[in-house]
Amino acid sequence: MSELTLHDFEEEALETLREYATIPSLSPMFDAQWRENGHLEAALQLLANWARERQLGAFHVDVHRLEGRTPVLTVTVEATAPTSGTVVLYGHLDKQPPLGDWSDGLAPFAPVRRGDRLFARGVADDGYALFSALLALESLEASGVAHARCVVLIEASEESGSPDLEFYLDELKDHLGDVELLVCLDSGALTYDRLWVTTSLRGIVVAEVRVAVLEQGQHSGSASGVVPSSFRILRQLLDRVEDAATGDIVLPAFHGVIPEDHVEAASALAEEFGDVIARELPTLEGVQVMGDSAQDRILRRTWSPTLSVTGMGGIPSPESAGNVLRPFTTAVLSLRVPPNVNATLAGEALEAALTTNVPSGAHVSVRVDTAQGWLAPPLAPWLADALEEASIKAFGRAPGFTGEGGSIPFLASLATRYPGVQFVATGVLGPQSNAHGIDEMLDLPMAVGVTNAVATVVGAHARNEA
Ligand SMILES: [Zn+2]
Repeated sequence: MSELTLHDFEEEALETLREYATIPSLSPMFDAQWRENGHLEAALQLLANWARERQLGAFHVDVHRLEGRTPVLTVTVEATAPTSGTVVLYGHLDKQPPLGDWSDGLAPFAPVRRGDRLFARGVADDGYALFSALLALESLEASGVAHARCVVLIEASEESGSPDLEFYLDELKDHLGDVELLVCLDSGALTYDRLWVTTSLRGIVVAEVRVAVLEQGQHSGSASGVVPSSFRILRQLLDRVEDAATGDIVLPAFHGVIPEDHVEAASALAEEFGDVIARELPTLEGVQVMGDSAQDRILRRTWSPTLSVTGMGGIPSPESAGNVLRPFTTAVLSLRVPPNVNATLAGEALEAALTTNVPSGAHVSVRVDTAQGWLAPPLAPWLADALEEASIKAFGRAPGFTGEGGSIPFLASLATRYPGVQFVATGVLGPQSNAHGIDEMLDLPMAVGVTNAVATVVGAHARNEA
């Protein structure tokens, strides 16, 4: 098969990918006016137009719109092999917000290329996915390798937790047909020298907690010492969730047992890569990382329940802080949940812990959202062989298998919806790719490698089915 080169990727995809990078197509959670603003629509049309220009046999590009939902783009490429099943290749076009000021010379919506890396919001998470999926199919067809019917599905609500995807999966049930293989192009990589396959993802529980004590703020000279501080009560409530000294989550509903093969895989990764997790983080001089070994940190990142306070409300910024006993404090709690722990039950336990016997009778309201984690189903022998072949051909090296610390909520719902289906969750989000952070970056050779690897896997699937 003729491999896609970096030059091919530059010729075919880069201009449109750069144009996509200029569109602030934030996920609906970060752009309540997404309909009026039209950025998601602009990104959708750009990608759809690019897809229509592909050199493929029988294929069609469709935009699906359900009332009140973000749109979905599908590109359906008819089979060139005598098979009846479908391969679904997933990506998303919505983006995270910029997060803050980007480094000198970089900006979220003005792409900059440095060497073989393209910097802009959304290029790696997950703008490259459509390009990668369709270029993989193009290269298969160009070299006469048969493939099953493929549906490239690009959604627009992933960074909001994919609230719209389920509705489209219902709507497109017949169109997707007999799904045999799902390729998710939205996951991470530990290095850029091989294909990385994700074996697990943590789930997530997000809670907005509001602790209120007063109808309106009062001079702290007149109210403090009498009215309890909402911040202090919040601290007490957080102590029910997390051990402030160790960072351990104390609620039993957030804990599970790590399967033995995942413990062994972490040990093998630590052996090969050393302290890969701690090494890649921009930790300040002198700050001690958690965990007692490289293996422990790999497991902590992928299997530990954790709490991050990601937002606060009711607190003025330092420049405008007066001596006031504030009426309320709101915190957004983001808790990662082990892959095999029921996130819904964990969320219920969290809500109960925050709202039962509240100190001083303060008024507490909690809004909880959850998304289930994911444990990859065992690989079928043909797919294990195909991944090996794919990584060696594309990178000259065997593939790596690792858990990821993040969440891709729809994978769990797909696993429930399509039991027994083979999954490949992979991606380009390696060191310094900064998905969700400032200075997001797409490593172009990695995108090319992943594209070639996807082509090999899709070709192997058709061979196996024939
Ligand atoms: Zn993503």
